[in-house]
Amino acid sequence: TTGLLPNQDSQLSAVSDDARHVLHPWADLSSLGTHESLIISEAKGVHVVDGNGKTYIDSIGGMWCVTLGFGREELVEAIADQARRMAYYTPFGDVSSEPAAKLAAMLSERSPGDLNRVQFATGGSTAAESAVRIAHYYQKSQGRPDKIHILSRRNAYHGGTYLAASLSGKLADRTLFHYETDIVHHMKSPGFDPDISDVSAEAFLADLIDDMERTIAEVGADRIACFIAEPIMASGGVLVPPPGYQKATLDLCRKHDILYISDEVVTGFGRLGHFFASETRFDIVPDMIVTAKGLTSGYQPLGAVLISDRIAAAMSEAAPKDKPVFSNGFTYSGHPVACAAAIANIEIMEREDICGHVRKVGPYFIDKLKALRSSPIVYAVRGDHLMACVECTVGMETGPTARNMALAQRVDRYCEEAGLLVRPYENLCILSPPLIVTERHIDSIVAILGASIERAGKDLRAGEI
Ligand code: PLP
Repeated sequence: TTGLLPNQDSQLSAVSDDARHVLHPWADLSSLGTHESLIISEAKGVHVVDGNGKTYIDSIGGMWCVTLGFGREELVEAIADQARRMAYYTPFGDVSSEPAAKLAAMLSERSPGDLNRVQFATGGSTAAESAVRIAHYYQKSQGRPDKIHILSRRNAYHGGTYLAASLSGKLADRTLFHYETDIVHHMKSPGFDPDISDVSAEAFLADLIDDMERTIAEVGADRIACFIAEPIMASGGVLVPPPGYQKATLDLCRKHDILYISDEVVTGFGRLGHFFASETRFDIVPDMIVTAKGLTSGYQPLGAVLISDRIAAAMSEAAPKDKPVFSNGFTYSGHPVACAAAIANIEIMEREDICGHVRKVGPYFIDKLKALRSSPIVYAVRGDHLMACVECTVGMETGPTARNMALAQRVDRYCEEAGLLVRPYENLCILSPPLIVTERHIDSIVAILGASIERAGKDLRAGEI
């Protein structure tokens, strides 16, 4: 015998072990210990299979991260080869590994401007925090010790560690935890939807810039270290700023010597059709770019901050002579196996022109989804290439009211029943499929989502929601 339990038994024991022992990120604490998790056991391409053998289309890309799809032998081999050859050695000080060094060079080649220095982290949160710490170090090294404040936005998401969670501005996530509030300032959320807005994009943008100018004046430019921003907000509800926003905010940062950190954890690595969206899509060359998720196509945990030569050189020149140590980083910074996965990921992305594919299917995806706006329970459909969301409403009021959220949950449930996984958040169904989705997959995703919306709409009319 293999010693393995039959599939059904291992599924049951996974559900009960999970309920008994695992505290999940964003768990529902009211059902801790009794929750029945969906156990995903196998996956191939854009499909995942649960422990009961039911297949779903994964329109979440794992968690915005599985870009090349599941079961890529080449990625698996790259991981196994590196693990066999040299699984791990310290990255501290002046010890390195071939994969980490090679990946840093590959990232530098593909990043905008002079972003040629890479500090590896373990994921998006640790990379975002590292970027802010670098901003602090830089400002202090330049003789500006008071420049420690950080500008962020409402609805932002930058991660789950203490400072990253404090930078995040999603009200739904503000719970009984403690948050750093002394040095973090949340400005207006930049989401603009031309389909439903009653003001023009220009007026909306002017208001955002006005708000930023006001915040800078209130806090004091001589006290602000950096601004951190996703080019398009992902977890906050796929919020797309009005045209010109990224450039206008960069200009303000330049004017006040505030470092600009572009958090491309979601928008990078092909989701908007480019390795990095900052310059190609939004015409900005920031001081730092934060990347993670699609960096390894989700096959290994890894994050990185790409830092401009200007900042790195300034830190190096100004570091105290008696203590020049850059004391930030992690045991698993640039883990060789994760870096090997990222290298293979980039090689496949280029060989298969994944970015070109996204530029082709992305607009098709958004167009198809927009047709769902004809349903009376769909308030908005927004997105860009392969990040999108559908916002549900019972019709009386918009936003995350209890009934709107119940309605969206009903849509999610019907999708799941019909073999489609979407990411539920408040009254939104969020979609970020693997970048390898074809037009045929997109047709299936939209057909199932559309049918589920229709079913939920009938329930609503029957007074069941
Ligand atoms: N930044 C952005 C824009 C994200 O969407 C996320 C995760 O969703 C993070 C940072 C945090 O990444 P991680 O969960 O890998 O720590």
